[in-house]
Amino acid sequence: MPLKQDVRKKAVYQEPGPILDHDNPFQSMMERFDYAAELIDLDPGLYEYLKSPSRIHITSVPVSMDDKSIRVFQGYRVIHNEVLGPSKGGIRFAPDVDLDEVKALAAWMTWKCAVVGVPFGGAKGGITCDPSTMSSGELERMTRRYTANLMDVFGPDKDIPAPDMNTNEQIMAWLMDTYSMHVRRTETAVVTGKPLILGGSAGRREATGRGVMTTTLAAMERIGLRASQSTVAVQGFGNVGSIGAQLLREQGCKIVAVSDVSGGYYNANGIDIEDAVRYAESHGRSLEGYGGAEPISNEELLALEVDVLAPCAKENQITGKNAANVKAKIVSEGANGPTTPEADTILEANGVLVIPDILANAGGVTVSYFEWVQDRQGYFWTADRVNRRLDRMMREAFEKVYGAKEEYNVSMRIGAYVIAIKKVADALRMRGIYA
Ligand code: NAD
Repeated sequence: MPLKQDVRKKAVYQEPGPILDHDNPFQSMMERFDYAAELIDLDPGLYEYLKSPSRIHITSVPVSMDDKSIRVFQGYRVIHNEVLGPSKGGIRFAPDVDLDEVKALAAWMTWKCAVVGVPFGGAKGGITCDPSTMSSGELERMTRRYTANLMDVFGPDKDIPAPDMNTNEQIMAWLMDTYSMHVRRTETAVVTGKPLILGGSAGRREATGRGVMTTTLAAMERIGLRASQSTVAVQGFGNVGSIGAQLLREQGCKIVAVSDVSGGYYNANGIDIEDAVRYAESHGRSLEGYGGAEPISNEELLALEVDVLAPCAKENQITGKNAANVKAKIVSEGANGPTTPEADTILEANGVLVIPDILANAGGVTVSYFEWVQDRQGYFWTADRVNRRLDRMMREAFEKVYGAKEEYNVSMRIGAYVIAIKKVADALRMRGIYA
């Protein structure tokens, strides 16, 4: 067990064979976990306990396709930890969903909930599929069968799913309905990220982008940057990226570049984000062909001379190969796992302040928690109340993580892991190990 090695001096990241595992997210998460565990001298038994998911569910999901054929998809639900409360985490539909990815994302949820102070454990789910080639009916049947297969896993007091990549309010509505049909009552609190009319929360759709904005502003204050004089580049223009960009713009930042799968778009005078959002909405959620900025590559976007770089697309975007090109003073991780451990070392050496994913994008799970509370109370808050409470929790979490960074003289990422692991380990010690 790697608890006692000096991970600061020694590169713990083992570059494996040419392509395979190079960006394995579970490996990537574990490296940070090991480092923080070492730093707080975590008991070896607790280390073993916390590094392993508590349960892994793999289920075959047969679906009647529109052409009458039957296809079987692989579905996953990993419960990483339930020490602080019921487990919580999104469900993603994508061709590259695999067990390692779901395990990493489940553990991330445990740490994220602990960092931001919501009483949940961590989980994640997914189905390996290509939703872009499936009809709405096929997606509905797949969602319902996945939910039915996992009826014993899900529950408002047990495990509460939410949207993630390629899953949305509609999919959450089907999940809630399927669960409710099985338990013979409407159980809105079984899932978050639902449509408002079905017990969703005001502000949930904007919550992750809002958390990115709040933590970015807090980081700017720490290093003496003013929003009104700062430039920002945002990678990814989906839920997190487009809303994060809009809210930072509202705070006075100049958003000079955005990107999506179609490439990057740069305008030194600032992109009109509302206009770009409208363009994407009317062009199949894509910025392809957007005329309000000049096209650049995604690699060029990452290397722009800006104050803030917000990677809000997917994992492994800032790597050992391109981290040295990053010129931003702050990297604000809207996406999960956008920076590899190798890149972390380079960014830290170059004095870049990285707001780690488990803090920067925790706004989503925070408002998911609010949604769950509101569903259970049957009493719904105004958007203003949601936003005020979210801003307060994100600010507090930021200050705690920044405090840990200073106390241990580490990056904010390791500071966040230290806080999270300590909290879960303390709770575990108090609960004890059931014989
Ligand atoms: P989304 O599907 O709405 O948007 C993803 C965006 O990234 C799209 O614009 C897509 O075109 C773009 N993209 C994909 N690959 C890219 C690439 N290689 N280069 C540039 N752009 C690329 O997804 P989302 O909900 O915005 O989630 C984005 C990230 O944030 C994911 O890592 C997700 O796990 C994380 N996250 C989301 C939430 C949430 O509430 N939505 C919460 C926490 C974390």
